[in-house]
Amino acid sequence: MTYQEFRYDSASRHRYWARSFVGWRHMGAAEPNPAHHCLAAWQQSGVLSGLVTQNVDGLHDQAAAALSMRTSDDQPNHAQQAMSRVVALHGNLDQVTCLTCGGIEDRRALDLRLEDANPGYAEAAMVAAENVNPDGDVTLDQSWVQEFTLVGCQTCGADTLKPDVVYFGESVPEERKAAVDELVAQSSALLVVGSSMAVMSGFSIALKMHRANKPIAVVNGGPSRADAKADFRWRTRIAPALEELSRTL
Ligand SMILES: [Zn+2]
Repeated sequence: MTYQEFRYDSASRHRYWARSFVGWRHMGAAEPNPAHHCLAAWQQSGVLSGLVTQNVDGLHDQAAAALSMRTSDDQPNHAQQAMSRVVALHGNLDQVTCLTCGGIEDRRALDLRLEDANPGYAEAAMVAAENVNPDGDVTLDQSWVQEFTLVGCQTCGADTLKPDVVYFGESVPEERKAAVDELVAQSSALLVVGSSMAVMSGFSIALKMHRANKPIAVVNGGPSRADAKADFRWRTRIAPALEELSRTL
């Protein structure tokens, strides 16, 4: 989907939400992996001044929340600070926004409203689904899409709901850019983890750090656009690499 399709094409929105409603049950089962937990621990201990992610799955926040629950008795302030310093550059699928009135709704609340409007649909459609990926991407036949009832915005009633994530044709909101710039200014080095940095919004962080003569390290499974700017490159599997680094910190 592009931003323009969400904005101007009600049939595309309808199809998107039918597929999303069915696929959400898979996405919801995703849990933070050892790499998320390592990064959350580094943030809490102050090794990382902040974390910028291009992922929209909310798993960095989940890992930080899990850590803060385990350590809330002794370090409540550290944990809260760590959570607030996750900048989700491209937003989070947990939230839905209305393109007509700007209203925000929790994705789980929307899911309950869709469930009420489509009793039994998700289960039946899943059985008939043509293609289901682990990331929750489900392909549905057009006849199933037509059976789906889309609900409107809770505030204004318009059928212009969109996940609150940055789509092609859309730019990163100014306040998130400002949060990144603040982190770039405050930080002494950049560690790139698990990103090819193909998207400019992420790569621009490496360019800014490089211009500021701050060291850059890249830990990635394949080539990254930041490689040429990096002082350290480690091409390896992410989770074992971070666990190994954790032991040396
Ligand atoms: Zn609205």
